[in-house]
Amino acid sequence: MITIAKNIERLSDRLRLLERQYERSSASVKLLAVSKRHPVESIIAAHEAGIVDFGENYLQEALDKIQHFSSMQLNWHFIGPIQSNKTKAIAENFHWVHSIDRFKIAQRLSDQRESSTAKLNVCVQIKLSDETNKFGVELSKAEALCDSVDALPNLKLRGLMAIPAALPDLESQRRTFRVLAQEYARLKPRYAQFDTLSMGMSNDLEAAIAEGSTLIRVGTAIFGPRS
Ligand SMILES: *Cc1c(COP(=O)(O)O)cnc(C)c1O
Repeated sequence: MITIAKNIERLSDRLRLLERQYERSSASVKLLAVSKRHPVESIIAAHEAGIVDFGENYLQEALDKIQHFSSMQLNWHFIGPIQSNKTKAIAENFHWVHSIDRFKIAQRLSDQRESSTAKLNVCVQIKLSDETNKFGVELSKAEALCDSVDALPNLKLRGLMAIPAALPDLESQRRTFRVLAQEYARLKPRYAQFDTLSMGMSNDLEAAIAEGSTLIRVGTAIFGPRS
């Protein structure tokens, strides 16, 4: 547990350094702690170190954790692939969804979100590299999907997300992220609440920050390897 607190402190220091190095404004990069496949004890340790945003990929595991922490003010982000039969539970239990890649899923989430609760914050997931990642909408179809998601009453379109293929060096990582950042900049004026560029994980967060990420999703560098 001491390790998790140390990891978060080290990561936060690194974030602030990278913001300066790449001329990003201070605290412009938020940290989402990806707690999938880690136990509730690890979430407690991260929370005690100041983390309030947690990312999960597997619905049943996530629902158990959300239930466990129901008395605490944590923000839960769904970041994994979504099947139609999962949308109801996601709409009812999460604050954010980063992995919208087709209209049908967005429409179900909006229909199943209680209109009396806050709107569900969503990002549209873009496919950046065909070979390794089958999820995400094609870049050429991103604008049409964003337009239709933005029109749904119980969703709030917050931005774009991508999970690029693992690349070995900073320059090639930056080139890939740049494609997403350019699309984000192009679309941003169209949508009132568009403020989130969800890109960067443990192994490519420097490249993501260099290219303008506003939210990095970090698992391993906080919690260690997953079981
Ligand atoms: C697992 C996962 C992460 C975290 O990956 P790490 O390499 O452990 O930092 C981030 N984003 C998504 C969508 C994930 O599935």
